[in-house]
Parts: sequence; structure tokens; C-alpha cells
Amino acid sequence: MALVIQNIGEFFTGDLSQPTAPVKSIRIEDGRIAALDPTGEQAQADTVLDAAGGAVMPGLVDGHVHPMLGEWTPAQDAIGWIGNYLHGGTTTMISAGELHVPGIDYDNLSPELMTSLAVVTAATTGRVRWSGVKLQAGTALVVPNMTEAHFDRLAAAGVKWTKFLFYPFSADTTEARNYVAWSRARGMRAKVHTGGVSRSGASVVCGYNVLSWLQPDVAAHVSGGPIPMSDEDIDAVVDRTTFALEVCSSGNYRSTHRLVTRLQARNELHRLTLGTDTPGGTGVIPRGMLRNVLYLASMCGLTSGQAVAVATGNTAKAHGVDVGLLAVGKPADIVVCGPITGSAGTTLTDAIAHGDLPGISHVLIDGEFVVSERSRQTPPPTKRAFFCCCNTGQFEARSV
Ligand SMILES: [Zn+2]
Repeated sequence: MALVIQNIGEFFTGDLSQPTAPVKSIRIEDGRIAALDPTGEQAQADTVLDAAGGAVMPGLVDGHVHPMLGEWTPAQDAIGWIGNYLHGGTTTMISAGELHVPGIDYDNLSPELMTSLAVVTAATTGRVRWSGVKLQAGTALVVPNMTEAHFDRLAAAGVKWTKFLFYPFSADTTEARNYVAWSRARGMRAKVHTGGVSRSGASVVCGYNVLSWLQPDVAAHVSGGPIPMSDEDIDAVVDRTTFALEVCSSGNYRSTHRLVTRLQARNELHRLTLGTDTPGGTGVIPRGMLRNVLYLASMCGLTSGQAVAVATGNTAKAHGVDVGLLAVGKPADIVVCGPITGSAGTTLTDAIAHGDLPGISHVLIDGEFVVSERSRQTPPPTKRAFFCCCNTGQFEARSV
């Protein structure tokens, strides 16, 4: 089965080094992008989606979510949140820890409990797709007195991430640095909560000093989640470290502006990744990743293409996931969208630059339509994509 998306007006690659390209059509086979601008036989397809001159971008990658059990989040007593985020354009999510499990006693977090929690989540919520979304769940929240055997058990369960959230950093840095090394030796990556304490009240303050010796793979919500580190620490983290720096919807807008403009001035936007840090105290935000993109483009000086690339290719790369780029051979995780009637922009590029929410009509994951006709979370785009049948060579609109 082959699908062609044609009549594309704007094409966002997800690649920061070349965020847009003059691609007019895409051919998708077996869930992956088989050709850009196919001609001749390559242009023949079983299904054709006419983008009606609208925009195509990679599915958004939320690098910081807090799942618990399937689509239920006890953090806001809500259900169905993953499907709602899908309708906001998110096709991949990375768990930053399943800390919202009801009844958990933050004063008694043992190595056994935290290892088991990650193993159980990886084997349940993380095992299947929810609403089609690629969710990486089962992130281990490390605590003191863990041994290499705990990390062996995590790796055997398929856990991809360890996270410092409840870990009490002290003058003796040996154990924490061992955790990072033990993670990497087993193919796992390490993320660390930064800034002031989180809603649990049990996390610890983390700024430049800790980050400088811990050297994580990703420093989470550097501009606040919810409380940012000091301005001086943000500057030092940008200037004196090299790892990935995450911005989340839970953060401080002013600190985000400081962080992002400093990264851009140093030509280091490749380090910037995005997440929502939800569900949590900030709520359930189906359009959270889109709002992150809009803030970066309308207030922090990024082009629309750069902002989309940060939300897709950058975030995927920082988390080691093979998504986020629209290129031959890559998974066909695609958002078809455009400006909304009444927006300041007549193109999506202009709308995003102005900070106006895009309207989504279709979302694909691995080449399968998981949102069709229109999103239930955004207004419709002005230019509505439609399916065609092409057996006569004449395209005609039909509904799905
Ligand atoms: Zn978080």
C-alpha cells in the first residue's frame, strides 16, 4: 500500500540545519517515507491526500511527559490525555518519570520500589501504543543506595532513561556520577530535574554547580519546572556545558527567553529540546507542544522552521528516538496543518512567526492516519486537505 501526499504548500523538515524545503509531494510505503517529490510510477498510489496547498511537518516530539497508567493521569484526575495530545500534533512522547502513582510515599523511596515502578510501567503502559502515540514509558527515578544490579534489571526491562528527581545531591558526587556511567554503559540516558523543587516538594534544587559535575544527557526544564535556576546559573549552563537543554511548558517565560536567546547568540540551538512537563501541576495541555513552538518563534527570535525543528528533530535526537525528520527512510509521522481563518498569517510560516496556533487536519503515525479530516483540539486550517481517488486521472474530493 502506497500513500502520496500532494499539493504541499509548505514543507518543514524537522532538521535544524535546513528547516524547510521546496517539497511538493511525499510518497509513503510500509510506514516510511519512500520518496520526496516522486515522479512517474513513484507518483502512483493507492491513496492520495491532497494537502490543498497547506503545510506538512513532522509529528511533534514531547520530550517530557509524566504518564502513569495508560491514558489515565491521577495528576489531574483526567483520562484520555494521550489521545488529546495526539490531536495537538504530538506523535512521540518520552516519560520523565512515573512519579504520580497514587499513594507513593516520597519519604520512603527505596531502590527496590523505584526500580520496580519503572520495570512495571515499561512492561504495561510502555509496552503498547495509546491512541497510536509512540510513548516511551518506564523511566527510572533514581534514589540513593542503588547498585549496578538495579541498573541491570532496568536495562533488561527495556528502560531507556534514568532521571534524577528525588536524588539528594551532596558533596560526595561519586554515587550520582556512577549512576550516569552505569546508565550509559547499559544504553540508557540520564536526565536531571533542574531549578527549584517540583509539585511533589520532594525533589531537590539543581543549578549549574550540580550540572557541571553530573554531566547528564539532558538537563530538564532548564527555564523552570516550575521554578527556574537563577539567571546567572542559566547563563553558566549555556556557556560552560555542552549537553542538551530542555524547555518545558511548565517553565518561566522570562527565563525561557533568556536561555533561548543566549543559545541562539552562541549558535547552539542544536542543544535546545522541548517538552510539556505534563500531566502535572501545569495541567493537561493538548496543544502544549504547539504553544512551545509559537513562543520560540514569536518571542525568542527563532524562525518558524527552526522552532518546528526544535520540537521535532532536535528533541528526538536528544532522546535517541528515530523520529522527527521528514526524509527518505524515516518513519512517516506527519502533521498536515495550516493557518486558521482569522490568523495574521496566510501561510503557516507567517502564522507561527506571529504566535498564532496552527489548525491541524490530519496526523499520521508510521504512515497510518490517526487523525483524519480535522483535529478535535484545534480549529480547522483554512486550507482543508482532502482525499482523492485517482483511477480516472481526475482527482475528486471524497470523505474518509
Ligand atoms: Zn517533570
